[in-house]
Amino acid sequence: MRKIRTAFLIVLILVVTLTGCGAEQVSDTADFFAMDTYMRITVYGDGADELTRQAEEEIMRIENVLSFSGDGEIGTINEHGGGTVSEETQELLERALELSRDTGGAFDITIYPVVEAWGFFSGEYRVPGDSELSDLLGLTGWEKVSVVDGQVSFQVPGMGIDLGGIGKGYAGQRVHDMLWEAGISSALLELGGNVCLLGGRPDGTAWRVGIMSPTDGEEYVGILEARDVSIVTSGGYQRYFEEDGVRYHHIIDPATGYPADSGLLSVTIVCDDGARADALSTALFVMGEEEAVSYWAARDDFDFILVTQDGRVVITPGLREDFQISEGYDLEVAA
Ligand code: AMP
Ligand code: MG
Repeated sequence: MRKIRTAFLIVLILVVTLTGCGAEQVSDTADFFAMDTYMRITVYGDGADELTRQAEEEIMRIENVLSFSGDGEIGTINEHGGGTVSEETQELLERALELSRDTGGAFDITIYPVVEAWGFFSGEYRVPGDSELSDLLGLTGWEKVSVVDGQVSFQVPGMGIDLGGIGKGYAGQRVHDMLWEAGISSALLELGGNVCLLGGRPDGTAWRVGIMSPTDGEEYVGILEARDVSIVTSGGYQRYFEEDGVRYHHIIDPATGYPADSGLLSVTIVCDDGARADALSTALFVMGEEEAVSYWAARDDFDFILVTQDGRVVITPGLREDFQISEGYDLEVAA
């Protein structure tokens, strides 16, 4: 009998924020579970209580629309092999497909049937065979999806969409923009491994965000000072199961159908757009260090913190002033 030991890790806050606010300010906090993770939203300023409630509702709304299952828009498309979507979903799908193209398919929202086969949706984990995986890879490929006038169609029957690699970042950005439009100038949105900062701390100083160690949940690899950006981490440590002593995590290399084994333990992206930060954290984790560095160098409009399997922490030059490495880690700056 096969013994499957599962270690299902939902970490309260994968990137733990170190706050501490001097100024007296009206604030309110909501703690809740959504999109398969624990979330905490803290809003500072007038109207904080009502806006915190609205922010939670907005995340619940987005979860319903984007979930891969159920009767939301994406769940319905997956069940029926296509269908109509709202303008909002169409826009997000178009962005996600563009990010899939731009990352050479390292990020690929059509990975759905493969993620399902590994049991990451149901929690009934299993290791699919090689031939099963190669069959399932035939049902993937972002270029086989078309989205025209709100109509989503797949080239191959059996395909499906998984927005798990971009949904939380998108939701964080939506809430950020909603709060900003309501006149808020300081808020902290912690959505599992995703942090979205609105402005600075209420006293005007930068937020201090701890970047979690992928190997020790009690430690940070370093602390990043930032304001008004999204900070999104993807790592194999965030969700995985073990079978016969081998660890299988939830970030799949679309080229092989197996959990990405690229030499990285975690990838943190710092970017002023939450959805992009989220998609890129997944994509660069799949790419590995070398490809991630060249992807960044060709664009240079986001920053990253890579933690490698051989214990190095590689950051982009843009973070040099703001990132303070913890003792015991080696810092390298990408060029
Ligand atoms: P993240 O935690 O943002 O890296 O996203 C991981 C989640 O995205 C997984 O739980 C899957 O649902 C989905 N996923 C896994 N591999 C990929 C991939 N290569 N591209 C897009 N989504 C993926
Ligand atoms: Mg992601």
